[in-house]
Amino acid sequence: MSGIEELPLRPELRGRTPYGAPQVPATHRLNTNENPHPLPAELLADLGAALGSAALELNRYPDRDAVALRTDLAVYLSRTSGTQVVPEQVWAANGSNEVLQQILQAFGGAGRTALGFTPSYSMHPIISAGTGTAWVDGHRRADFTIDAAAAAEQIREVDPAVVFVTSPNNPTGTAVALETIEALYAATTGVLVVDEAYTEFARTGTASALTLLPGRPRLIVSRTMSKAFGMAGLRLGYLAADPAVVDALQLVRLPYHLSSLTQAAARTALAHTDALLATVDAVKAQRDRIVDALPALGLTSVPSDANFVLFGHFADAPAAWQALLDRGVLVRDVGLPGWLRVTAGTTAETDAFLTALGEIAPDHR
Ligand code: PMP
Repeated sequence: MSGIEELPLRPELRGRTPYGAPQVPATHRLNTNENPHPLPAELLADLGAALGSAALELNRYPDRDAVALRTDLAVYLSRTSGTQVVPEQVWAANGSNEVLQQILQAFGGAGRTALGFTPSYSMHPIISAGTGTAWVDGHRRADFTIDAAAAAEQIREVDPAVVFVTSPNNPTGTAVALETIEALYAATTGVLVVDEAYTEFARTGTASALTLLPGRPRLIVSRTMSKAFGMAGLRLGYLAADPAVVDALQLVRLPYHLSSLTQAAARTALAHTDALLATVDAVKAQRDRIVDALPALGLTSVPSDANFVLFGHFADAPAAWQALLDRGVLVRDVGLPGWLRVTAGTTAETDAFLTALGEIAPDHR
């Protein structure tokens, strides 16, 4: 047996570790921002039937262009954003991670640079590395907001081919104002990707970048069914952009990348959109409950528009993480000194989290 270092691995991948939250057993798993609510019974019944009929055709390749699914996604986006989105503007893949990878394959690559505002979703630099795209860290203020003027200046200097903005941001929960997104778009000659994985959890008044699509052919808004829809296991991510962007992605997508089972399941889930999204308000209520409970424990949080809360400050965040785990509560240490991230889930999960936090807070602040 030989080690990875003896293989002729690409030099930029040497010494790297694969992405992944620790999958440690815990009573309360509040570390990967999933929706803990069970899927509605009517959806489960319909899924059985839909997958059954799709299975009858498994000897055939799926619809390579996933037209029916993209049509359903366009209807959902139009209905919820108030902006008309047509199927030609929509593209879907196996999770938004694959969507992001296809964007980098088409618009990044050797000799090109991607820029994103760290701390943010750690897969953005990882997928950049995987596609041979150089990475530059964009600046955020100490309160994790983006200074639009400074960011635009940095973009003009670096001239990246791909700019990432995550709104609401992971791991901080911070939403990005549309004026900031407009300023970043105006500053770049590359594509601007707004990663809106958590947008359905945004507080009232926080608008989606979908409204900025008209007249901005290099703007891409990426979404997922993994979070608010509670379908992380389905692996269905999608984007909305100018139809020319969707045409460009055809050059790099693998033929038949979305299985017919995935397409059937996603369409069935979308037919139950209202029932699925009914849990969003309950999750938001738990998020706000966590935020409100922190000051009494001598702790604070970053304002969150997502289904998670970045909370602190801890003298030693890894030690606080372990102390919570010892009490059965698994949260995420995102590597930000003093901070930990917790997913907002059910009332019972919040109860368990706040009880454990109350026990450990005095020793770890
Ligand atoms: N974007 C952000 C900001 C995320 O946090 C995640 C998941 N953690 C993703 C994209 C990827 O989600 P998926 O591939 O499940 O759609």
